[in-house]
Amino acid sequence: MNFELDEPYLAIQRQARDFACAIEPLATEADEMSEIHPGVLTALRESGLSDLMVPAEYGGRTKRLDPLAICIVREVLMATSAHADSMFALQGIGSYAITVAGTAEQRQQWLPRVAAAEVLPALALTEPDAGSDLKSITTEITPGADGLLLNGTKSYISNAGAAAFYVVFAREDSGFSMLLVPADAAGVSVTPTPELIAPHVLGDVRFDNVRLSPDARLGNPGQGLNLVLATLGVFRVSVAGAAVGLAQAALEEAVRHTRTRVQFGRPLARLGPVAQMLADCWTEVEMTRLLTYRAACLAVNDPAASLNHSSMAKLAASEAASRVVDRCVQMMGRYGLVRDSKIERLYRQARPMRIYEGASEVLRLGIARQLTEEVR
Ligand SMILES: Cc1cc2nc3c(=O)[nH]c(=O)nc-3n(C[C@H](O)[C@H](O)[C@H](O)COP(=O)(O)OP(=O)(O)OC[C@H]3O[C@@H](n4cnc5c(N)ncnc54)[C@H](O)[C@@H]3O)c2cc1C
Repeated sequence: MNFELDEPYLAIQRQARDFACAIEPLATEADEMSEIHPGVLTALRESGLSDLMVPAEYGGRTKRLDPLAICIVREVLMATSAHADSMFALQGIGSYAITVAGTAEQRQQWLPRVAAAEVLPALALTEPDAGSDLKSITTEITPGADGLLLNGTKSYISNAGAAAFYVVFAREDSGFSMLLVPADAAGVSVTPTPELIAPHVLGDVRFDNVRLSPDARLGNPGQGLNLVLATLGVFRVSVAGAAVGLAQAALEEAVRHTRTRVQFGRPLARLGPVAQMLADCWTEVEMTRLLTYRAACLAVNDPAASLNHSSMAKLAASEAASRVVDRCVQMMGRYGLVRDSKIERLYRQARPMRIYEGASEVLRLGIARQLTEEVR
């Protein structure tokens, strides 16, 4: 057993660090934006990292997507910029259903452009009245005169307004299906969502009698839920990677501060309770990184079968990131509260991670169900 990353992964990590260095001067501005930062997008294109999100056959780097490589990149990016992390992650999250179930034509049309970051994708599952309970969606596919009609509203969709296409989860008579909808199709409109505590490129997307050919389906009618699960199988663990990167960055801020700030004649880091917090934070970062890398390694071989491990990693790492960054703010005292300082930004950015791609409580339900099925 070897707990170290081997050279191909270290090379990907170096590539991600180069990208992070390139965008560092833009991070403060980009992370407060609710639309795409053009400089970060250009840097993503130049980094070449988007090719990790598409199989080699369509311009990507590896034969199949590699969840560990994606985790490693997100860990590095999130430590510098949540905007860059999310832009990178969505290249895969928004296009994976095409990789899995698109026709040769759909793949050829979009995937090479996703790999080059020429276009941005979006995955539209959530609705005003359907969040964790995805099966309660009302967006509907009905037969039209010469194809399909799509009606409904999706909300809190990342990349809305910037995406070239939406992969849309909708219901029809045969069950839940996925559709590939070009953003410029007649009847598609986007309105901004309210700004979040940590801004994010988000919008509500409305589909008003959008006419589509039957070829717009991804996979067969009724295959939509399987495609959602396939996407989570590869990408849920990557949220854990991002959470580990966030916690590590927060801890480094706290270490720099507590090593140099002297109170009661000693650096803060040498005062018992502060040292204890530093030790607890480091331990949590190490624990969750190991859990995350293991879940990602399992997902490399079989994303569907390892979803439960990905859920555990996402649960543990996102909850730990919140605890770690909270302690780091505490250790930095009033300096941890300064608006737009790095630590304050990380504090706000940690919070949504416990809600999107499976709220912690929903993940716990799934994990417990799996446990009770496995133990005889
Ligand atoms: C930054 C951000 C980006 C997003 N991007 C996208 C995107 O690109 N595409 C997309 O489709 N969606 C996106 N979403 C939406 C996201 O997927 C939902 O927020 C998420 O699924 C949770 O749904 P909800 O917010 O409606 O919470 P709800 O489902 O209303 O749940 C609220 C709370 O209730 C509790 N809860 C819910 N169900 C249960 C249960 N069964 N048992 C116990 N407790 C429960 C949990 O504590 C949960 O946090 C994004 C959200 C955010 C914040």
